Amino acid sequence: MEREILTEIKEVLATQRFILGPKLEQFEKAIATYCGVDYAIGVSSGTDALLVALMALEIGPGDAVLTSAYSFFGTAGSIARVGATPLFVDIDPGTYNLSAASLRSYLDHHCKPDADGELRDARGRKIRAIMPVHLFGLCAEMNEILTIAREHDLLVIEDAAQAIGAEYPLEAGPARAGTMGDIGCFSFYPSKNLGAAGDAGLVVCRDEATAKRLRIVREHGMEPRYYHHVIGGNFRLDELQAAILNVKLPHLDEWSEARREAADFYAKEFDRAGLTKMVTLPTEPYRETGLRNHHIYHQYVIRTERRDELQVHLSKREVGTAIYYPLGLHEQECFHYLGNKRGDFPETERAARETLALPIFPEISRDAQKYVVDSIAEFLEK
Ligand SMILES: *Cc1c(COP(=O)(O)O)cnc(C)c1O
Repeated sequence: MEREILTEIKEVLATQRFILGPKLEQFEKAIATYCGVDYAIGVSSGTDALLVALMALEIGPGDAVLTSAYSFFGTAGSIARVGATPLFVDIDPGTYNLSAASLRSYLDHHCKPDADGELRDARGRKIRAIMPVHLFGLCAEMNEILTIAREHDLLVIEDAAQAIGAEYPLEAGPARAGTMGDIGCFSFYPSKNLGAAGDAGLVVCRDEATAKRLRIVREHGMEPRYYHHVIGGNFRLDELQAAILNVKLPHLDEWSEARREAADFYAKEFDRAGLTKMVTLPTEPYRETGLRNHHIYHQYVIRTERRDELQVHLSKREVGTAIYYPLGLHEQECFHYLGNKRGDFPETERAARETLALPIFPEISRDAQKYVVDSIAEFLEK
């Protein structure tokens, strides 16, 4: 693969087509086909994908977007950056994804249509969209979320940064992450399942007018050249990154398969070690659907009450773990102005205290995984 990548890079250097060239076009077409959508537009990062999506849908000051309290900062950060208000919703404790039940309860108890029929929160902000996050490689409960969105006439922007290729049993038929709402957002940050050699991202959609708007926003709101009807930015995906991603994309499903096999092996090992009462393993709600990519294990996240001590123990055993995420978004200092407080989203806060991501990547060896589980057993059985 390295040789293929170098050939691609040399070609870009030779042609000097560094911006919006043929490699990007090829990549956009390939991703659209892979995801099963009509339009894919490469952008500069996953965070910018979210930003471009919000800008293209004209979400801004006075608007509010409902999203998960438990996600990477970029999810809520992008909502705030367009001048809108992130309204947090608690998660499902099994999947760590936005809970449709909490979403419905929030809308029923804290939002009302105004005289014009526009849905508003208690402070008069117009509820425009829902931004579910498909965390750790597992799709959120989209059947329920889309039903709620339809009932309240809300847009749906999927943060699929961690879930490219993940499949979901949509009522209308199986669908991939990012293709179920109005716009889907992906990240090719190097550690994601499909990683570039730097920053890169992409948005997908089914609607032609939305695609056109996304493209315009990506390049300073320009259409035609040097005529600006809207304010956009420079959100382009580099040709060099697209060239590298073209080489990697055909391997994505094998890599996700290898991650899933590693996850299965962890489950077997935890069971063998007799730890399944002390450690909560990831849930696989869509496994029985028979969909291959029912989970793509961007992360393998376990839950245990003595998480912090366990992490210290594992680091002494040279097992690298990570905490995604140590705080709910509502507890981040920069969002204090929103007026949330500790206790508002109990499942998010519990997940932030109890979850630990274990090493997982396509090439991980079974011996390495055994060592991880044995090291956990050593700690928990003390
Ligand atoms: C990685 C990630 C992003 C941001 O992607 P970048 O490419 O790093 O900007 C957004 N949301 C989630 C859930 C992510 O995991």
